[in-house]
Amino acid sequence: MSRIVPEKWMPACQMKGIITHWNAGAHKASELDKEHYHLLIEDDGRLIRGDHEISDNLNTGDGDYAAHTRGCNTGYIGVSLMCMGNAVQSPAYYGKWPMTKKQWETMALVCADLCERYQIPVSPTTVLGHGEVGKYLGIPQRGKWDPLALPWRPELGMYAVGELFRDEVRKALSDTNTLPTKDERTPVNILVNGVDLGVDGYLLDANTLAPVRPLAKALDAVITNVDEYKVYFVSPDNQRREALYLNHAGVGHVSVRDFATKCGKDVQWDAKSHTLNVVSRGPAF
Ligand SMILES: [Zn+2]
Repeated sequence: MSRIVPEKWMPACQMKGIITHWNAGAHKASELDKEHYHLLIEDDGRLIRGDHEISDNLNTGDGDYAAHTRGCNTGYIGVSLMCMGNAVQSPAYYGKWPMTKKQWETMALVCADLCERYQIPVSPTTVLGHGEVGKYLGIPQRGKWDPLALPWRPELGMYAVGELFRDEVRKALSDTNTLPTKDERTPVNILVNGVDLGVDGYLLDANTLAPVRPLAKALDAVITNVDEYKVYFVSPDNQRREALYLNHAGVGHVSVRDFATKCGKDVQWDAKSHTLNVVSRGPAF
């Protein structure tokens, strides 16, 4: 069950690893970009299929393959972010088309799908940035540093970014391994004052989870920030609050009961119809 990459884009074959890149260009994929990478990710997270099949890189002797890494294309999948044209490594300058967080997050999901499909372990020699190929595979790459600089975390060096990325991929893999897949979930209807919110709520360990953004909107809460584990928001009574946040395949989920309570609401659970109704709190006695 893939997260983001269509199954038919991942033909059966044996691949050794994934090398990630940026195109050092603009935010949208050009025809030339599509020749060089199997999967391309634009600034808004849009995923584009390159001209070559992944299986074209099984062997490169025939010249029909995606040439993404000098001396290291055989058995390696090339994934690239469309960004960082004119960027300079030192002193750091991110140029007109800096890498976006959306691209970075999407790339982790893409790599998680590829790791699962091709049984590729998440390690520095099997899931790595172009800029790490010299260090971990011993194949020099002439000053390459892609895609290992994060404009929102300029303090991190190239190899630290590589580690961080592998952590993101592991997290994406464990998210779907521990959380039920969509087909296995027990769905829950989420109502707010009796009106169906129209979101995919589901049960996890006796907690009802739902996507946080539509829920916050319906409850007049304003999300101010999210990090790895928490969502920060301003509740309707104008208090700064936070709730645990679970990223599931790119969508942030919260416990409806927890979030609603922090917004000053009560919840009513109807076990028979699997419905959770968020209601205004009655008068306190
Ligand atoms: Zn590259």
